Amino acid sequence: MYELKFDERQCLSCATQDCLTKCQYMNIDRDTAKREILKIAHGEDSFVLHDCVTCYACEEYCPVNNHPFYLIVEQQEKLNIPPLPQPIIRRGINTGVPFRGEPEIVNINGRALNMGVFSDLLHLIQGKLFTGLPVISTDPRKMFHYFCQLMYLHYARTSVIKERLPKIIETIRKHNITDLICFHDECYGTYTSYCPSVGMDVPFKPVHLFEYLYNRLNELKGEIKPVNLKVAYQRPCSARLCPDKHHFVQDIFDLIGADHVKREYVDGNALCCGGTIRGQRREGSRKRAADVQRRNIEDMKKAGAEVCIFNCPACYTTMGEMVAQNGMKPMFMSDLCRLAIGEKPAGWR
Ligand code: SF4
Ligand code: SF4
Repeated sequence: MYELKFDERQCLSCATQDCLTKCQYMNIDRDTAKREILKIAHGEDSFVLHDCVTCYACEEYCPVNNHPFYLIVEQQEKLNIPPLPQPIIRRGINTGVPFRGEPEIVNINGRALNMGVFSDLLHLIQGKLFTGLPVISTDPRKMFHYFCQLMYLHYARTSVIKERLPKIIETIRKHNITDLICFHDECYGTYTSYCPSVGMDVPFKPVHLFEYLYNRLNELKGEIKPVNLKVAYQRPCSARLCPDKHHFVQDIFDLIGADHVKREYVDGNALCCGGTIRGQRREGSRKRAADVQRRNIEDMKKAGAEVCIFNCPACYTTMGEMVAQNGMKPMFMSDLCRLAIGEKPAGWR
C-alpha cells in the first residue's frame, strides 16, 4: 500500500550522482554511481547493497530528494541482504512492538513533546525551557506506542515501519496534538521525510527539538549568559533526513555564545557515531567502526573542542565515554541550553 516515490528518470538526467559519489564509506566515481543506483532501482544486486553502512547521508546528498537511501534499504530487504546479523534484527524488531496493552489517551488540544522511546531521559527536558509543555511517552511500559520505528532502516526492514507506523500516528492523533515537538531527529525525520516519501499522511505538524529550543531561548533571551565553551557537534545519522533544520545547531550556538570549533567532519561531511557499523555482519566491521570513531574524535580534539554536543541518545551511548576519555565533556544540546540560562544540568560541575 505504501510505495516509495523513487523516480529513475531523475537519476538518468542527474548531473552529479552525489548520492554515491559523496558516500564517505565507499569510494565510488560518477559512472559507477550512475550504473549502481540504476541497478538498485531495477531490483538487481549491487555491491552498494552489501557495503552500505546505513549512515542515511545519501538522503541528504541527493539534490532532488529522490530518496536513494530509502531505495537502498528497500532493496536490501527485497534481496535479503541484511546489514546486521539476523539474530540482532529479530531481537530488535521484537523489542519495538508498539501495541502491547493500551496507551493512555489524554486530550492535549495543542502542542506536546514526544519522548518516543526515551522515557528514561526525562532529566533532559527539565527547567524553564520546558515549563508548561505537555509531554507524551513518559511511561517506559508504554513508550513503544510512540516509537516511530524508523530505527528499522538500519535493519533494512521498511516492511515493519510501514506496518506499524500508521497505528503510531493514529495513537498520537488521538491525543489531539496540533504540533508534535520531537525529542529525537529520527522521530522528526519520520514525519517530515519518510512518511511523505511513501505517501503516508501525518495529521499534525512535526517540530524539530532544536527549533523549539531556539525559539524558547529567544523568549528567555534576557536570561542568557554566554557559555564561552568551545564545542563540537556530533551530527546523528537521522539528522540527514532533515537537513533544512541543521542550521539551528549553529543558530543556537551563536545565541548562547558557544564557539563551534572548525573541523573537517562537520555538516554534510559529518561522520556517524560508528554504533551501527560496529554491529554489522561484515568482516572487519569492528575495526572499521573504531577507525571512524578515532578519526572523528581526533578531529574534535585537534580543533580544540572542550565539549561534544549530542542530540541522539544512541550516539551519546556509543561515543560518550570515548569523548570523556579524550578530555572532552559529552553533553546533550538541551543541557547546554540550560547552562546558558543559568540552570545547572544534572552532572555538570
Ligand atoms: S538518487 Fe539523486 S543524486 Fe543519486 S543519481 Fe539519482 S538523482 Fe542523482
Ligand atoms: S547510507 Fe551512507 S553508507 Fe549507505 S550508500 Fe548512503 S551515504 Fe553511503
